[in-house]
Amino acid sequence: MQLLLPGQTLRNKRQLENMRKVYEADSLIDAQLILDMLENVDIAAILVNGNLSGGLGELPVSPPEIWIKRDFDEERACRIIRDFDAPQKPFEEISCHQCGEINPASFEICWNCHAELL
Ligand SMILES: [Zn+2]
Repeated sequence: MQLLLPGQTLRNKRQLENMRKVYEADSLIDAQLILDMLENVDIAAILVNGNLSGGLGELPVSPPEIWIKRDFDEERACRIIRDFDAPQKPFEEISCHQCGEINPASFEICWNCHAELL
């Protein structure tokens, strides 16, 4: 993997040729989500094969792909995608002190009895 520092711009002219595919999505929704996440952290990325409407006479539909525009974003992009793609992590749980129901640790209020979670 080649890493470029943000200041290194000599390859800008060949930017398009240097784009890298970082993800092949199962669905356009996934692809769009990842694109949004990458954009949120200022990773320049594009969605390829985003048009799945598949009109008559078009090539067989290929999976949507995410390409990043800058080499140096690759590591960050892959990390984000890995997190996204990871199997559902067991999330932290806390049990409600009032009713004993299990709540995700991110909850502030018990989903069951609406007591404040500590
Ligand atoms: Zn409760």
